[in-house]
Amino acid sequence: MRRPFLSVLLLAFGSLTSLAKPVNIILITLDTTRADRMGFLGSKLGLTQNLDSLAQHATVFTRAYCQVPLTTPSHAAILTGTYPQFNHVSDLGSPLPEDLPYLPDILHKRGYRTAAFVGSQVLDPKSATAPGFDRGFDTYDAPFHLRGEGEDRYQSVERRGIMVVNSALAWLKEHPDGPFFVWLHFYDPHDPYDPEPPFKSRYASSPYNGEIAYVDSVLGKFFAELKKRGLYDQVLITVVADHGEALGEHGEQSHGLFLYDETIHVPLVIKLPGASAHHSLIQTRVGLVDVAPTLLQEAGVVAPGTMQGKSLIERMTPRAVAAAKTSKSDSAAQDRPQYAETDYPYRAFGWSSLRSWREGKYLYIDAPRSELYDQSLDAAASHNLVNNVPAISATMAEQLAAFRSRTSSSDKTPNSITPLQAQQLQALGYISSGSTKQESEEKHRGADPKDKVQIANILHQALLQMDDEHYREAVPLLEQVLQADPSIAVANLQLGRALNRLDNYAEAIPWLRKAVELTPRSADAHFELGSALQEMGDSKATVEQFEAAVSQNPSSDELRFRLGAAYEEMDRVDDAMKQYSDALSLNPDNFRANLFLGRRLAMQDRPKEALPLLQRAVQLEPQSADAHKFLGNVYTVLGEAEKARAEQNEVQRLNVIPHP
Ligand SMILES: [Zn+2]
Repeated sequence: MRRPFLSVLLLAFGSLTSLAKPVNIILITLDTTRADRMGFLGSKLGLTQNLDSLAQHATVFTRAYCQVPLTTPSHAAILTGTYPQFNHVSDLGSPLPEDLPYLPDILHKRGYRTAAFVGSQVLDPKSATAPGFDRGFDTYDAPFHLRGEGEDRYQSVERRGIMVVNSALAWLKEHPDGPFFVWLHFYDPHDPYDPEPPFKSRYASSPYNGEIAYVDSVLGKFFAELKKRGLYDQVLITVVADHGEALGEHGEQSHGLFLYDETIHVPLVIKLPGASAHHSLIQTRVGLVDVAPTLLQEAGVVAPGTMQGKSLIERMTPRAVAAAKTSKSDSAAQDRPQYAETDYPYRAFGWSSLRSWREGKYLYIDAPRSELYDQSLDAAASHNLVNNVPAISATMAEQLAAFRSRTSSSDKTPNSITPLQAQQLQALGYISSGSTKQESEEKHRGADPKDKVQIANILHQALLQMDDEHYREAVPLLEQVLQADPSIAVANLQLGRALNRLDNYAEAIPWLRKAVELTPRSADAHFELGSALQEMGDSKATVEQFEAAVSQNPSSDELRFRLGAAYEEMDRVDDAMKQYSDALSLNPDNFRANLFLGRRLAMQDRPKEALPLLQRAVQLEPQSADAHKFLGNVYTVLGEAEKARAEQNEVQRLNVIPHP
C-alpha cells in the first residue's frame, strides 16, 4: 500500500504513471566513515563536496546511529532491519540466517534485479566472512582472495572505490531495465589509511581524511555518470556509513571496542527520486535498522513484521519536517531511543561485551563499570555521571534491559568460526581467536574494555604488521601485549607464528603451547605448534598436533597434506597415502599432494596410478624439477623412453636456471 508521502510526491509531479513503476534503488554504504567528516553535517574540512551536493536535494538525518560498530554485523542490521540480538550476526563471519527478512531478497522476489559491489573480503559471502549475504542477489561482485606472494591488499582482500564504481556502472549499462536494487560498498576509509594520489599527498598529515575525500571523489564520478545516463533523477539514493572510526578518542584507535559517538554516530542521507527532491534536515534520532523498512516502503512493499526498524518516510514528509521544527514536544515524542552493542571485546580478547542506550539527552553504556553521559552538555562523553545521578542511571539500565528482552530471539547460529574465516578476518585487521561462542550472557562479562584499550591498539598494530609479513616488527608488539595480558589467545598464536616465520622454532613453542591450551579448538594453533615441533625434529609430537588440527578443520586439504608428510617422516606410509588422497579429494589441484602421492605410488611399483598424479603435478607447477624427475621415472618404467627423456631434459634445464 502506498503511504501518504508518495501520494504527495505523485501529485506534485502530476503524473500517476510512476505509480505503476517501482522505484530504482541505489544503496551506498561507506565503511568506517565518521559523521563529523561530512560537509552536509557541518564539517568544515571540505572533504565531501559531491556528497554535499547530493545532500542538497535529499533528506539528511543528523542523528543516525549504527547498531554495531563492526562491518558485517552493521550491514546485517542495515539489510535486514533487525537488531543484532535478533539476527545473531553479532560477529564477523557469523552466517546470516536464512529465515531473516532480507531487503535484497524481498525486492528480488518483487521482480527487482539485484546487484552488490563490495569493497572488501569482509563482505564476501563465498570466502565465508559474510556467509548468506548473497541471498536474493542476481549478482554479488566480490572478487577477493587471501593475499598471495607479491600481492598488495588492493589486489587481494580489498579494492579501491573506483573499482567498485566501475563494476557497478558496467552492470547498470548491461541491465538498464528496472526496477533495480544496487548496493555499492566502499571500504577505503577502513585502516590502513592509504589513499590514492593525489589524496595521498594532499592529506599526508591525515590520511584518514584523505580516504574520505577519495571516496567522495569516486562518488562524484558515479553520480556524474548516472546523470549522463539520465538515471540520477529517477533513482532513490541512500548513503549511509556502517560505523565510524575512533581515531584515538576514548583511547581507541579504530572501531569495534567501544560505543561512543565517534564510532556509532553515522551519516545517513536519503535522496528520493525526482529532479526537485527537496532538502531537509531531520534531527530526530534514528537507527540503521530503519533503513530497510524505509526503502521497502518507497518500493511499495509492506515490510515483513519481523523487521524491527521503522520506516522513516513519514518523518520525511514536508509536513512532518515542518512540524518537528516548530514544536519541541512533537520532536521529543518522535525521538526514539537507540540501541547499540559490541561483542568484539569479548570475542577477540575475552573482555566484557558492551551495550548502549541513547535516550533523551543521555548516553548510557552497560559495562562492568557502567557509564552515563549528558550529551547535551558533554558531546565528547568525557564526564561519567553514573554515580552522580544513580536514579537516571538505573532507569536507563532498566530500559536497556527491557528493550533487549523485547527484541531478542534465541540464537540458532553455529557456535564457532572456521580457521579459514579466522585467517581471512586477520588479513583484514580483525582479531579472531577461533574461540567458541558462549552460550550465556553472563559469560560476556570479562574485564572492562576501558581498562584494556591500549592492549587492543597494540595488538591491532601487530596484526597489521603480521599481515604485511613484517614479523620482526610484530614480535615486540606481541610481547608487549602478552606482558600486559598473557591470556589473549590470538597474541600467543601470532607471536608463535611470527617466531616460526623467523625460523626461531624453539622460542615459538612455549607461546604456541599456550595458544593451544587457551583455544584447544583452534586448528591454527595446533598447526603452528605442529610446524614448530616438526622443525625441531619431534615427529611424534608433530603428528599429534597435526592430527588435532585436522580433526578441528577436516576440510582443509593443506592440513591433510601436512599431516600426511608428517606420517611419512615416521614411516607410516599407508597413513600418509590416505591423507594425501583425502587432500586430493578436497582439492584435486593441491600440487604437493599430487607430487607426494604420485611419488609414493611409483615407489610401490604402481606406475599407472602414479602417472596421472605426476602429470597433474607438472601441469600445476611446471617449474618444479622434482615433479619432472618423478614423472620421467614413471615414463621410464612404463617404457615411454621419449617422454622420459623430455622430462629429464626439463629437469636439467630447470636445475641450471637459478631459482627465482
Ligand atoms: Zn565497517
